[in-house]
Amino acid sequence: MSALRFSILFLRVWVILACSVVLPREGFCQRWVTQEKMDKLEIFGEVQLNADVIQQQLNSVRAELKSRLQIDGSNATVQVVVFSSRNSYRSYIGQQIPEAANRRAIFYKNGELYQIYTFRHSDLLTDLRHEYTHALLHQSLPFVPLWIDEGLAEYFEEIPAARSGSSRLRAMRWKCRTGWKPGLSDLERIPDAASMDSDDYRNSWAWVHYLIHESDASRSQLTGYLAAISAGEAPGRFSEWVTQHDPPVLSRVGSYFRRFRFSLR
Ligand SMILES: [Zn+2]
Repeated sequence: MSALRFSILFLRVWVILACSVVLPREGFCQRWVTQEKMDKLEIFGEVQLNADVIQQQLNSVRAELKSRLQIDGSNATVQVVVFSSRNSYRSYIGQQIPEAANRRAIFYKNGELYQIYTFRHSDLLTDLRHEYTHALLHQSLPFVPLWIDEGLAEYFEEIPAARSGSSRLRAMRWKCRTGWKPGLSDLERIPDAASMDSDDYRNSWAWVHYLIHESDASRSQLTGYLAAISAGEAPGRFSEWVTQHDPPVLSRVGSYFRRFRFSLR
């Protein structure tokens, strides 16, 4: 999409949001049954939501991003908007952003405004954790390589206790037994999120999982790369970064999953 069309599109979306979320006005905003301001979160719901549970989940994502990757987020507020149904969500935002209509949740950034849109469904907390990871990454870094953005969001969407039972983990372990391994350069060449299929999401998750858990050496490559981006450097592609710093890290991903013993630390 051209920059001009995108700007117009975003402006139209922004006007709608400004009327109903950012600048709530009497009568205009009676659709929000839940409306809570909690520290760095604002939660709006067309239905009654347990805002404490949402805050607890999102705070745990924030804490884990900090402890594992030294990603801090910022003090900017993240607005979470939960519609009562897919239809309500689609009618509110789908006309403005058609590509969002087929998704269960989206994250938007406009300057210092960070917003998550979704609707009530059985995996709501998982999707909120996913989109909130995007929000914190984009608060912390001037740019986020696509596969790292989606890989981390896929990783942190699962609560820690569920990760050792992840179906993705079993699938990756099985596939890597054949000698296959997820291709990093393939992921680095994906131009945009719309071009990603489910295998790309899984492989991005796999690389992130491997880098976080395999060893201090693998994790330090990821944290070092993210720190370089945060510092305003232009570190190039991650594969280039690792080639310069610790090349063997690029070759162990297959054996990591092949030997995986379900003891995450
Ligand atoms: Zn995502």
